[in-house]
Amino acid sequence: MADTVLPTQLLIDGAFVAGEGEAEKVLNPSTGELLLALPEASAEQVHKAVSAAHRAFDAWSETTPAERSRLLLKLADAIEARCEAFARLESLNCGKPYARALGDEIPAAADCFRYFAGAVRNLTGTVANEYLAGHTSMIRRDPVGVVASIAPWNYPLMMASWKLAPALAAGNTAVIKPSEQTPLSTLLLAEAMAEVFPKGVVNVIAGRGASVGQTLVEHPKVAMVSLTGDVSTGRKILQAATGTLKRTHLELGGKAPVIVFDDADLPAVVEGLRTFGYYNAGQDCTAACRVYAGAKVYDRLVADLSSAVRTIKAGLQDEPDAEIGPLISDRQRNRVASFVERALMTGHMEITTGGKAFGGPAGGGFFYEPTVVAGARQEDEIVKREVFGPVVSVTRFSDTEQAIAWANDSDYGLASSVWTQDVSRAMRVAKKLQYGCTWINTHFMLVNEMPHGGLKSSGYGKDLGLYALEDYTVPRHVMVRL
Ligand code: NAD
Repeated sequence: MADTVLPTQLLIDGAFVAGEGEAEKVLNPSTGELLLALPEASAEQVHKAVSAAHRAFDAWSETTPAERSRLLLKLADAIEARCEAFARLESLNCGKPYARALGDEIPAAADCFRYFAGAVRNLTGTVANEYLAGHTSMIRRDPVGVVASIAPWNYPLMMASWKLAPALAAGNTAVIKPSEQTPLSTLLLAEAMAEVFPKGVVNVIAGRGASVGQTLVEHPKVAMVSLTGDVSTGRKILQAATGTLKRTHLELGGKAPVIVFDDADLPAVVEGLRTFGYYNAGQDCTAACRVYAGAKVYDRLVADLSSAVRTIKAGLQDEPDAEIGPLISDRQRNRVASFVERALMTGHMEITTGGKAFGGPAGGGFFYEPTVVAGARQEDEIVKREVFGPVVSVTRFSDTEQAIAWANDSDYGLASSVWTQDVSRAMRVAKKLQYGCTWINTHFMLVNEMPHGGLKSSGYGKDLGLYALEDYTVPRHVMVRL
């Protein structure tokens, strides 16, 4: 790990340049050590990046889907060819186990570019017809223009791919800003993209949200802003976008309900929760974090889940048996710890396992024990608010209607799951859940072919699937007088 080369250059108009703004500390969350101080983009550099994307738009939007597809496939190959370097940076910068980054996230990012390379060649339109006598109407789907893509810290490369692949496939140009906490894999992606795309088509700038992000979002030549981040950031972006009425695409937080009926296959539920509630140390907007258990299954579920969660191994990036890493920062860990402390203070909740911060094997890391909070009630903060850490709450419900009502009683609407062996009940409940996704007898599984996105405060717009291509294009009517 000591000899890992850390990329430091921004990509603006086809050139690699150092940021000219204030330096931001980039840490290794497993040890708390400084990896580097990375100068962010200056306002002038943000302007240059947007102007370059704006200039590149004309030619790029004239390319055929086949040409763009070829370049996206080339990029996917380049990511795969350097998969170890990407995984190394991702695990170093986020604290993720290296094997997980290499086995799960980098292949998913490469496949995302491959999916959109194929999908864009298969976009179909409605028929052309004479809806007014003597006039032929047709529908075109054209790119929007310059897209500002703003990504979070939990899956930096994957989120960059979810944003860039549909935007570029559809013929838009882009300026992407990774999270100031996790810029490294996106800076390496810049190197791969510079070898593939014409200059200006995609630009990578780094920096903080309040400075670089805000300047980017407010830029008059940006036509669309796509954010994955917090609900409060979504609000700020909406406000900033009003000046020039930009199109927005918002993937915000989540608080996924998991409804476990008495007839569910309990070992499968426990194994599922152990994986899907704690993957990436629970820093996942779809994490299976809000469990509703039927009255008969509740006690066994709490006991078995607590035993299973006790066996989750948190460790350093290169520990071969490490399943999860630390939280992204000390601040995030304090936030998680304070949720658990407040839960305990209510007096009716019990921490059946976990509940403590720790320094990790090397000391200094931002680790938090995988935690189960039992006895949670619907009105409790831990049930209502996104914790974004390795903490799962369990609440007992009495009947199906109550479980559905409680699951829907949330500001969020991203992901949910239902666990039962009764197919009809599963389908009835799935229909009623106000979530962008409902899994039955599983959770968390995403595929590039299917849309991902939320309702309510979880935002709107779809990542992945053909729906994402629709979001990154505008339908236009062209009429010919015959
Ligand atoms: P965040 O909102 O703090 O930051 C996200 C990005 O927005 C960062 O790049 C940040 O620099 C930028 N930003 C912040 N303020 C800005 C501003 N005023 N203008 C422009 N850009 C600004 O979120 P985070 O802490 O990095 O990520 C965690 C959040 O992301 C969680 O709430 C999580 O649920 C959400 N998330 C959602 C999804 C999804 O698909 N819905 C996926 C992953 C994460």
